[in-house]
Amino acid sequence: MEVFHHIAASVPRRQDIVELAEKYQIKVNIIKGTYNNKDDYLFTMKVSESHPGWEEIEQVLAKQPTLDRTYTLFTEAEIRAAPWSYVGWRWEHGYPMLKSKFPYLPQTRKILCRGCFRYEQYAPYRISSDPKIAKNQFFSMICLNELFAVPEVIETFKQQGFSGFQDWDLMLHRKNIPTLRTRQIYVDGVLPFNVQNIAQLPDPTTCPVCGTITYQAHTGGTLEYKASDLAGVKQDFMLTQEWTKNGNLTWREMLISNRVAQCILDHKWKGIQLKAINLV
Ligand SMILES: [Zn+2]
Repeated sequence: MEVFHHIAASVPRRQDIVELAEKYQIKVNIIKGTYNNKDDYLFTMKVSESHPGWEEIEQVLAKQPTLDRTYTLFTEAEIRAAPWSYVGWRWEHGYPMLKSKFPYLPQTRKILCRGCFRYEQYAPYRISSDPKIAKNQFFSMICLNELFAVPEVIETFKQQGFSGFQDWDLMLHRKNIPTLRTRQIYVDGVLPFNVQNIAQLPDPTTCPVCGTITYQAHTGGTLEYKASDLAGVKQDFMLTQEWTKNGNLTWREMLISNRVAQCILDHKWKGIQLKAINLV
């Protein structure tokens, strides 16, 4: 597991960080002439927490608020060794219909609370035209953290006897028929216990309407579970008890068992990024 930081700021405002990047030979991308001031330059850079310069950069970075996005990557060996993983990212294309009715998406799901936008999907999602998924086998739509896959993936999962998912259509909105290109991996099983590192989940927010606590996505590390909790789970696909939220987009992270992760890696299927779960 490696935690990375993607940092962006104006050069004059964070000259100190640019100088540190030079000192530690970290590549900096400069974008010229931003805003109205031609002398203002933006820079972006990526640095991992294992980099020898990170400790000093982190200290200097904290001196003033600066855009610093964390993300965590796992090696294939780490994912293969983990009893469970979760789906951290999917390749995205297109919008769920009706796009203008997001996040309500009538005909598809019921919003459980208008304060936090938790929902229950009761019918297939809809898309305006056949999704262009390029060389990917997995995908999701923009503003939707669901999981869709090409029929080959679904068939393989069924042949392997993986449990805990249903094979749902993705509808072409105007024609009102399913696309033949992808299907939804629909999961509704929810883990009856919490993650162990719940205190690390960023930005816990209590919904003023229903009292449910939502969190921002956990990008600086991974989810941790008690080994004895997960040992009792019989399905291969499950959702977290916790709700994750970003603006009007609310979802539950999808966990997959080791045998599903191995299958995805063995086939070298693209369009998905897995994060190894830590057992504690
Ligand atoms: Zn709510």
